[in-house]
Amino acid sequence: MSSHYDAIVIGCGGFGSSALFHLASRGVKVLGIDRFQPPHDKGSSHGETRMIRKAYHEHVDYVPLVQNAYRLWHELEERTSQKLYYETGLFFAAPPEGSTITGAKLAARLHHLRHEIVPREDFRDRFPGFELPEGFDVFLEHEAGYLLIDDCQRAHLDLARSLGAELHGDETVISWKPEGASVAVETNRGRYTADRLVMTAGPWAGQVLSSLNIPLKVVRKTLFWFPIRNENSPLFSPGTCYFYDLPWGEFYGFHCRDGRTLKMADHAGGEDVVDPLTVDRTVTPRDYAGFEKFLAIAMPDVSPVPVKSSVCMYTRTPDGNFVVDRHPEHPQVVIGCGFSGHGFKFTSVIGEALAQLSLDGRTEHPIGFLSLDRPALCSNE
Ligand SMILES: Cc1cc2nc3c(=O)[nH]c(=O)nc-3n(C[C@H](O)[C@H](O)[C@H](O)COP(=O)(O)OP(=O)(O)OC[C@H]3O[C@@H](n4cnc5c(N)ncnc54)[C@H](O)[C@@H]3O)c2cc1C
Repeated sequence: MSSHYDAIVIGCGGFGSSALFHLASRGVKVLGIDRFQPPHDKGSSHGETRMIRKAYHEHVDYVPLVQNAYRLWHELEERTSQKLYYETGLFFAAPPEGSTITGAKLAARLHHLRHEIVPREDFRDRFPGFELPEGFDVFLEHEAGYLLIDDCQRAHLDLARSLGAELHGDETVISWKPEGASVAVETNRGRYTADRLVMTAGPWAGQVLSSLNIPLKVVRKTLFWFPIRNENSPLFSPGTCYFYDLPWGEFYGFHCRDGRTLKMADHAGGEDVVDPLTVDRTVTPRDYAGFEKFLAIAMPDVSPVPVKSSVCMYTRTPDGNFVVDRHPEHPQVVIGCGFSGHGFKFTSVIGEALAQLSLDGRTEHPIGFLSLDRPALCSNE
């Protein structure tokens, strides 16, 4: 069986679900293909929540993108009559001279973002249940919080389908190739052709884009839900998101909506993954060893033994910045990958950028710093 589409999206997780929606909203005939039934827990977009923030300490060029991401999340909430974003505020606790605090301050100053430097003596009153390590500064941004990750993907997919998009779940793309100005896609179930292709394969991006040799590294990451063990803890009340930059890890997390646990992860480190399909999903105490010391100094009311955990994957680039671009040899193919463990908040806006790149050959969004030909991607070392 062969069918022709205006566009095909390979991989309909975080970014692909958004690209599918934005393509469908432009009125084109679009097919999304995913090896699982999205949203699912086999890739990089699961685990209840994802943080969203504006004072981007990693690179100030993300700020205009994330501002548009917020706008698009609000639009999606309105269109689907549901709440996807919860604003809690977020504090960074980190050494004053380190890149987290200096970068966040720079982003806030350049883009006039609402923020505060919280004095040490006010810390316990402002953030009950949290402790501040000696010598750390606190940067608080107000317009930050979390997104409900499954609902976000479902909202994009449902809207895309209501606009005429087709979604083939449990179907694996085996190969793709350019055919003149079009593309042909071969799956385990059939063959399709399209005028354009959008590739958003997450941790599988290195496999589906192997000819480009993008230096992507997939690492195994673990999410934990730690219970509050002190019955009188102020942590039972919903509070601010937090990020601690410590010498042995970058710990961050959220108060959970169950009111009894805090969800946490360590942004640093992670073991290499050879094949995302066979990533080790068994969680052992070794996986949460670093949290014991962190919780003892930052949140002593929280038990270091998790009640729940989940294994996920980061797909890292050497400079930690995403890859969003057109294929250098085949302009009918656009690519979104290497989201380096901080991508989800951007799925709303990058999905739109991918749809625009695909249909118009250009995008209104400032994604120049995410191009494939930047120096950091030009070597495999
Ligand atoms: C533990 C953890 C915590 C994180 N915390 C945050 C956070 O707080 N804030 C934030 O903004 N980001 C965060 N991130 C990062 C964010 O979740 C990811 O950047 C984002 O979800 C990646 O989405 P994706 O679309 O690239 O990948 P995925 O959602 O995995 O989508 C890829 C899809 O491609 C499909 N696919 C792959 N190959 C094929 C094929 N051959 N045929 C068909 N389908 C295929 C897969 O089935 C999958 O559905 C975190 C990530 C992790 C792992």
